[in-house]
Amino acid sequence: MSLLISAVLSHGAEQLGDAIDAEILLAEALGIARDRLRLYPDQVVSTDQMAKFNRFLQARMLHQPVSQIIGHRDFWKHRFIVTPDVLDPRPDTETLVEQALGLAPKNRILDLGTGSGCIVLSLLDEWQNATGVGVDISTAALKVAKQNATNLGVTDRIELVEGDWFAPLSDQFDLIVSNPPYITAQEMQHLDADVRDWEPRIALTPEGDGLDAYRIICAQAGAYLQSSGHLAVEIGHQQGAAVAQMMSLAGFADIQIIQDLNRKDRVVIG
Ligand code: GLN
Repeated sequence: MSLLISAVLSHGAEQLGDAIDAEILLAEALGIARDRLRLYPDQVVSTDQMAKFNRFLQARMLHQPVSQIIGHRDFWKHRFIVTPDVLDPRPDTETLVEQALGLAPKNRILDLGTGSGCIVLSLLDEWQNATGVGVDISTAALKVAKQNATNLGVTDRIELVEGDWFAPLSDQFDLIVSNPPYITAQEMQHLDADVRDWEPRIALTPEGDGLDAYRIICAQAGAYLQSSGHLAVEIGHQQGAAVAQMMSLAGFADIQIIQDLNRKDRVVIG
């Protein structure tokens, strides 16, 4: 008996209780674009493809995020490789990219806690004259960022450095961006299993009240920024006032709190 796309898809959607996830996983197992599934419902799914799809379904039922299962996620204008070693690039973070791009073009960008590299690599892709540095404490994450830099064709303009925030740096920048870990230790207990059990804890939370990374970044950024430079960070939606105050105490001016598409505070820039 041969299995048809339409039947395999309904089976997957039922197992997962989520039609969209089932579509994304089946399209990946078949190696075709998602819209093809609906165009060719009567196409036959081979045994190998079915085995692959079943593996994907099993992983998803164990709450592994879809991007980790298929190994990539679209962010801003490109596809980024995603593994369990990096935070899954999120649409929320596109607000940070968008705000940075609203500034006059920058030449030298620093991304603290670069992870997959999605922020700095997107900026380098938009600003063809810029160079950048991505710092991360995770060797495994930097490997993923390197692959993403290769895929975007910007390897000659990015330096990926292992280290603790500013520790490995000596030069100056005109833009510092970061999407640091900001979930509180307490919120971690109530996170979805998809995130809590599968994404790197070190990328999600600095423990405690969730603000430690901002304390370090805001206090030290000035020493690594030219006087007309900018600092732009992603924040949790209840952290706007606290982070704006840290920037202000550190001597930043023109501080703005910006909301994301869901109208939640998401970025602080100064
Ligand atoms: N900079 C990466 C991102 O925004 C990783 C951030 C992190 O791991 N906290 O996706």
